[in-house]
Amino acid sequence: MIFDIFNDVKELNLKAINKCYSIRFVHAVLPFDKITITVNQTKSEMVIYINTPERLKTSEQAQTILANSLIQWLDKIARNTYPTIIKNFAQKHQLTNPPHFRTTIATTKWGSYKSDGTISISLWLLFYSREALNHVIVHELCHTRCMDHGTGFKALLNQMCPETPFIKKELNTPLSENLVKLFQINKGR
Ligand SMILES: [Zn+2]
Repeated sequence: MIFDIFNDVKELNLKAINKCYSIRFVHAVLPFDKITITVNQTKSEMVIYINTPERLKTSEQAQTILANSLIQWLDKIARNTYPTIIKNFAQKHQLTNPPHFRTTIATTKWGSYKSDGTISISLWLLFYSREALNHVIVHELCHTRCMDHGTGFKALLNQMCPETPFIKKELNTPLSENLVKLFQINKGR
């Protein structure tokens, strides 16, 4: 699905980590199928270097390359931030800090916990509030003590990080249309 990237995507607002990056496209001498992303933290600006920025208007292939590069970038951020949040909540609530961590690109199943000690959290939660991300993380951490969603689990979660109406509503709200297009989420991601 071709869409107007230049007009529809002006910034990436990573609410969960309180960072909002404006986006600038710059022509660079790069192989046709390569995109380089750099981020200026001081200016809160993301610069996307691409051989022919204009091509992003007309080429689905170019948009796919961009989507993949951006997902790699998001994944790195999630892998750099989520484990610390997980560790801190585990300590705070005296729950087990799972030995294995994975990011996922799931858009409705925000997190999961497997009895082998793997906690998985969706990288798309970066676009949601910190409260929502925290809630998903504490939910999965509670599974280290209680695998099902029974009354014991609910009491535990409620005590540690209650699901407020705000969080519930947010987690039931799909990613914005523009993000779905930018990241090509409808393409079976
Ligand atoms: Zn659960």
